[in-house]
Amino acid sequence: MTETIAHIAIASPVDRLFDYLVPPQMLEYLSPGIRVSVSFGHRTVCGIVVSLSQESSLPLEKLATIQGVLDTEPTIDSAILNLCQWLARYYQAPLGEALMLAVPNKLRTPEPAYTESTFWRIVKTIEIKATKKQQWVLEQLKDGPVSESALTESASKAILKRLETLGVIESFKQITETSSPNIKAVQVQAAPHPLNFAQSQALETIAYDGHRTYLLEGITGSGKTEVYLQSIAEVIKRGKQALVLVPEIGLTPQTLKRFEQRFGQCISLLHSQMTPNQRLQQWQTAKHNAIIIGTRSAIFTPIPKLGLIIVDEEHDASYKQAEGIYYHARDLAIIRASQANIPIILGSATPSLESIFNLEHKDYVHLPLTERATASSLPETRIIEGQDHDISPEIRQAIAGTLDNGYQVLVFINRRGFAPTLLCTQCQWMSECTRCDSRMTLHRNPPKLQCHYCDYQQAPPSQCPQCHSHQLQPMGQGTQKSELMLESEFPHTPVIRIDRDNTRNKGQLDEALNKVNQGEPCILVGTQMLAKGHHFAKVNLVVILGADNGLFSTDFRGSERMGQQLTQVAGRAGRESHHGQVLIQSQFCDHPLLIELTQQGYASFARKLLEARRQSDMPPFTHIAMIRADAKQASICEQFLRAVRAEAESLMPASVHMSYLGPMAQQMGRRNHRYFYYLQIKSHSRQQRQQLLQQLRPFMNRYSRRQGLRWHIDVDPIENS
Ligand code: ADP
Ligand code: ZN
Ligand code: ZN
Repeated sequence: MTETIAHIAIASPVDRLFDYLVPPQMLEYLSPGIRVSVSFGHRTVCGIVVSLSQESSLPLEKLATIQGVLDTEPTIDSAILNLCQWLARYYQAPLGEALMLAVPNKLRTPEPAYTESTFWRIVKTIEIKATKKQQWVLEQLKDGPVSESALTESASKAILKRLETLGVIESFKQITETSSPNIKAVQVQAAPHPLNFAQSQALETIAYDGHRTYLLEGITGSGKTEVYLQSIAEVIKRGKQALVLVPEIGLTPQTLKRFEQRFGQCISLLHSQMTPNQRLQQWQTAKHNAIIIGTRSAIFTPIPKLGLIIVDEEHDASYKQAEGIYYHARDLAIIRASQANIPIILGSATPSLESIFNLEHKDYVHLPLTERATASSLPETRIIEGQDHDISPEIRQAIAGTLDNGYQVLVFINRRGFAPTLLCTQCQWMSECTRCDSRMTLHRNPPKLQCHYCDYQQAPPSQCPQCHSHQLQPMGQGTQKSELMLESEFPHTPVIRIDRDNTRNKGQLDEALNKVNQGEPCILVGTQMLAKGHHFAKVNLVVILGADNGLFSTDFRGSERMGQQLTQVAGRAGRESHHGQVLIQSQFCDHPLLIELTQQGYASFARKLLEARRQSDMPPFTHIAMIRADAKQASICEQFLRAVRAEAESLMPASVHMSYLGPMAQQMGRRNHRYFYYLQIKSHSRQQRQQLLQQLRPFMNRYSRRQGLRWHIDVDPIENS
């Protein structure tokens, strides 16, 4: 007799599938993507069937048998299985771990996803003297089994039991199906906007019968969302579903509201602030809802009739996962769309250099929107000379003028807390974290020094710990200090601060946003939380403080990020008027990058940066991978990475050009008593880089993990240190 072997993925760092025997009676319930319970080591765990065959590389008598089947239909459908197989290969991860990304938390345990209920049926028709109630039961069962819960609504359990002892009826267990296969009808609520010329050109260019990647490059307020909405309507008309990825849902309740107003209650929402139960429930409704909106991990949602993917703000760094498997959800979305042979729209006012590069090199279709959709025009932008710790008189005047005209002001400063550090002016001592290579940020209300990397907190000293002087001064500017400064400058105007410190729970952010949206003159102070997707009708002046950090970043992506952030924040100005204004305060007014950005705009700025990347042999012209290591001792990291580098150099023939950087300490090389190091691998050929990583993995897997050594492979990193 031939045995059937199931090849099963299990969440384990061991980089292969595990073989189990399939009991014959289980065979009909198994197919790829079904979850099963199996013994693994000394535990029972949840595994996912990847394939079935008659062969195993191990002798059959060594194999354990599958314990139980946990699904009635695959948790991982074939589309998601394909996607995870690609992901595991490309990002150099075990397939088991890749698949677990796609399984909702609640389903990662060896518990069945279905509930079994008791049903009753007639065994044989025999003549009995049936009571009225008994007759009623037999009448119900005449045409087939009925659930016990339905029967006991009118008859008692005792009656069923009595009929059972008479041998007339019997009970059995059956799985109750819950999901409905049909896509819910959409009730259109708000009417669509009539599109302007550029929007309708974009919409008409999108084809729905085949795979294509579209880059919707539209300035802030150009009506990208309207294009998304109408292309989704097209897809729904064809009986298909749409997946929309967004960077962070909590921050932009307005965007969600627009989708709901247009399409009603046929939206599944998947984001990280949900409880595991809510998430599972939304994940299940994705089977029959027309639209699925979610953050990064929503890319793994099974969607049976997927017809379109949209990635909003495709440049956003939150699409890259920075732990476990370092995948990029935008790039995975493109792969998923190509595997499903459907269109994908990447939208942004500030596209990543990768996507701009791909316009030319990968045959993306460009959909430009160069003007604002409403009657407003892009704000006028100026750079104002000024020091970091102050607000220049010119900016003060502009704020006063805007408030006098009945408008609102947004002050952007990308640093929360009061001041980045506390400095002794006598001996230059600075408040540093004892666990990390970072400075402790000064906070007020309550007063404390806090490390933003490890969260270590302490009371601010009243005198210098080094020279005991009392000349301690806050250095630099954080949101709390700006708030205080603005409050004393403009005592009659409400100052509303929005950053992570005062919006820990969702209600707080909504409350602050509601205040702003009432439209009374006010000053909004905040971090990048304010930059993303908001539509503040009354904000007419945007002030950007501390813009200089990006100019001198050691990361080659620093200037790209600065350009994106400045442009996104600036885009909040004058969205419904003609005289929006943006003032950027900088100590380096004549820096060529700042001038290019403010005078020519992001599109031109980004293309200049791309040319610089080409000249310096950086991505997207080359392909990078980082081997990241951390341990309690720096030397452990260095030894490991040196060994990896030596192995890599010996593996690659001299004819293959591969360049290495490191081992090096990360920029914030010590965090919470651990040391972080990296080895950078760079190649002109993506394929050769992949081959090398593939060959390096067994070596790294064999390497001893003593002294708490941990390592990760970061393919196409976005943090380059
Ligand atoms: P983006 O997503 O590019 O920032 P939005 O889609 O939010 O732009 O559009 C900005 C504003 O313009 C919104 O208030 C939207 O309702 C409005 N809008 C979009 N398209 C049109 C149009 N064709 N006609 C009039 N108003 C429009
Ligand atoms: Zn001192
Ligand atoms: Zn720290």
